[in-house]
Amino acid sequence: MKLIKSILTKNPCYTAGRKITVKGLMLHSVGCPQPKASVFINSWNKESYDNACVHGFIDGNDGTVYQTLPWNHRGWHCGSGKKGSGNNTHIGIEMCEPSCIRYTGGSSFTCSNVAAAKATAKRTYEAAVELFAMLCKEYDLNPLADGVIISHREGHARGIASNHGDPEHLWNGLGMGYTMNGFRKAVKAAMEEGEKNESGIQATSLKDMKESDVIAKIGALFTADQKNSGILASVSMAQFILESGYGKSELAQNANNCFGMKCNLSGNTWSGSEWDGESKYTKKTQEWDGQKYVTITADFRKYPNIEKSIADHSAYLLNAMNGSKKRYEGLKGCTDYKKAVQIIKDGGYATSPTYVENICNIISKWNLVKYDVAEDKKEEAASGVMYRVQAGAYSVKANADKQLAKLKAAGFDTYMVKAGGMYKIQVGAYSKKANAEAMVKKVKAAGFDAFITTQKGEAVATAETKKTVQEIAKEVIAGKWGNGEDRKKRLTAAGYNYDAVQAKVNAMLK
Ligand SMILES: [Zn+2]
Repeated sequence: MKLIKSILTKNPCYTAGRKITVKGLMLHSVGCPQPKASVFINSWNKESYDNACVHGFIDGNDGTVYQTLPWNHRGWHCGSGKKGSGNNTHIGIEMCEPSCIRYTGGSSFTCSNVAAAKATAKRTYEAAVELFAMLCKEYDLNPLADGVIISHREGHARGIASNHGDPEHLWNGLGMGYTMNGFRKAVKAAMEEGEKNESGIQATSLKDMKESDVIAKIGALFTADQKNSGILASVSMAQFILESGYGKSELAQNANNCFGMKCNLSGNTWSGSEWDGESKYTKKTQEWDGQKYVTITADFRKYPNIEKSIADHSAYLLNAMNGSKKRYEGLKGCTDYKKAVQIIKDGGYATSPTYVENICNIISKWNLVKYDVAEDKKEEAASGVMYRVQAGAYSVKANADKQLAKLKAAGFDTYMVKAGGMYKIQVGAYSKKANAEAMVKKVKAAGFDAFITTQKGEAVATAETKKTVQEIAKEVIAGKWGNGEDRKKRLTAAGYNYDAVQAKVNAMLK
């Protein structure tokens, strides 16, 4: 959704300066064949235009939302009914209408180009869903609660608006199949999708970071990916660095796409893709045609966060086919990074003639093998015994999950194993006993009980104990996460996106 502020500062409704407590949102349709929001904005932004004013217009040609009043400003968008006026409680948004319709009286119209009109109505509907989801979040509104999201027509039926039929008259007249109930559900779904996407790391958070800091921030993502995919973390991470320029490339910054993954890739017949199949970013790109680099324009996949980009990339490497054979056969479980990179190159992944060399240089430059999962096991095999620091054992997994969350919040790199029927929380495994003893000291200093064990356990997936950004922001405001760098460290250690939480805190304190 593209949102442009274009406040109607000359309109007498704006200069009246009355505020409301926002209790709901009202959806309108302009009621005349004019798709351009700018036409309304120009004619309404006048001292002499004193009969109407709304909070926003949605352009029919491109779906852009123009905000025309501060959201909590009292608008003049729905008149009144026998029980009062929705202007005192509701934000009012107008969707512009197709140019090819002609009103014949009341809310009846004819249409000379139904396909074009439908495309316009779809565009404004979808933008309205996104806008209403944003406003529901901002004002803590439940989109499904009675009377919160209503149309002008419903407002009239409830006795708080003048007698209009919008926007249902337009949807019905064009046979869109849209209803206000469906609209409310779509807003709810958009809010949930948004919450899901707020978690995870955005490439934009890497933009001004030093290269070494980028590596420190994202290293764990690749270690986690290796545990899922069996592809060496060092290799995927070096690909990330090379292909996204440490997450700073145009494609990464605009689409969280860190591997140049195109929309259409090996016929898209491979399984396990993490891409939604729709979100895309179009740009020019350089490709090696066998002799020289040439510039082409291509559609690239867009992801909600870097985690999805990494997962989609690994799914591709694991499952892409070349005829009846796996394109990158032997990559899964390969623990020799040079061999793994050669498999990737041989499968036709990269067009650059120096790809293998480039990737291997990056791995050695940053010693990326330290992010590989196999390291622990190699060490273990050599020494025969590992000293594991344990900070609690539980018969009930939920209790183990709680302890794990507490340790993570305190900044410890914690994981759970199962052994002898118990869920055990461990904070590291060391081949040297002295290192394990040093960690025990640290854990105890942080107020936890800890001891050393050499017993090995099976890895256990831990419960999704993450809270929503909003919940965490409330806790931050309540002082539960400390201040400044300390807050940042603790939130990050607990797996939260510090920037997203802080932005929410700032918005809530505004
Ligand atoms: Zn209306």
